[in-house]
Amino acid sequence: MAVFDLPDFDDHEQVSAFYDPESGLRAIIAIHNTNRGPALGGCRMWTYESDAAALTDALRLSRGMTYKAAVADLPLGGGKSVIIGDSHKDKTEALMRAMGRAVETLGGRYIVAEDVGTTVPDMDIIRQETRHVAGVSGGAGNPSPSTAHGTFVGMRAAVKHKLGKDNLAGLAVAVQGVGAVGSALCDWLAKDGAKLFVSDIAEAPLRKVAAAHGATVVDNDAIYDLEVDVLAPCALGGGLNDESIARLKAAVICGSANNQLAEDRHGQALADRGILYAPDYVVNAGGLIDVARISLGISLDEAKAMLERIYDTLMEIFTRADRDNMPTNAVADRLAEERFAR
Ligand code: NAD
Repeated sequence: MAVFDLPDFDDHEQVSAFYDPESGLRAIIAIHNTNRGPALGGCRMWTYESDAAALTDALRLSRGMTYKAAVADLPLGGGKSVIIGDSHKDKTEALMRAMGRAVETLGGRYIVAEDVGTTVPDMDIIRQETRHVAGVSGGAGNPSPSTAHGTFVGMRAAVKHKLGKDNLAGLAVAVQGVGAVGSALCDWLAKDGAKLFVSDIAEAPLRKVAAAHGATVVDNDAIYDLEVDVLAPCALGGGLNDESIARLKAAVICGSANNQLAEDRHGQALADRGILYAPDYVVNAGGLIDVARISLGISLDEAKAMLERIYDTLMEIFTRADRDNMPTNAVADRLAEERFAR
């Protein structure tokens, strides 16, 4: 299988494939860059349609982790692992142990954590084979509250820059997706006095948030047409595309979802419409800070200070974007690249 010619190959330092016949493990670990420190990133278990699709995912996701860690100013690089298989059917203790041994062979250059298809108990099993694992039980645990907190901090920066407001009081905020992060974000926003609009494809979480905060429930697609100050994408990525951007009335986009822009050029499309986009991986780094905290020996207070620095980092990005007439997503990438000394 080709690696170096793939469009998603981006000077990755190391890409390793692992096979364990006894457990059936087929996994790829991609280390994008370790200039700032060991490459931390989740282990995704997914029913990839081909080995090539798994490799592409590992390359793309590991690169994203380098940028996220650098912009959060963590002494970490970017890596990611993928296990090819169905997490509901194929996951066994033997498989996770084999994954732990695979991580161990890299001698600490890669630190594994949970991701889609893996859980804290899986990390506990991996821990029996390697100490290069983050997010085990009794450790950092669930990162969603920190991600929500960081998103709230980011939103305060964005409304300060765009609307000159010091808090969310009286502002209308539409939260798309009220799962683990979206619902916790609503708690912060309600406390700050925002007027909430929420959408989700699932009924139960919607009803819960509506009842807790008097949020107005809106149709999932109609969320893009709302006359609100802020839209917070907290569901899946890719929602900001040609069609949705043309409909937006929000002044600010700031949410936790990964890869919100369908394509990079949509950052410019938002800027052209005068909409301030707070780059997703800057905004949603709170969870990574939390997960990395124990591996890096960072105290709770230090981690909180790092999370609060999301505010200053965004302000720097917004200021540079205005000065250089660049879209905010491109400025964020440049800032990350400066920090990992590409
Ligand atoms: P989650 O699965 O708990 O919640 C997602 C919610 O979005 C669910 O309630 C789901 O029903 C809803 N949803 C799915 N598709 C939707 C759609 N098309 N329209 C509206 N709602 C939809 O996930 P989460 O942990 O809250 O994460 C939310 C987003 O934030 C994801 O994109 C995730 O990658 C990103 N993120 C999460 C963390 C974290 O710490 N959990 C960290 C960084 C980034």
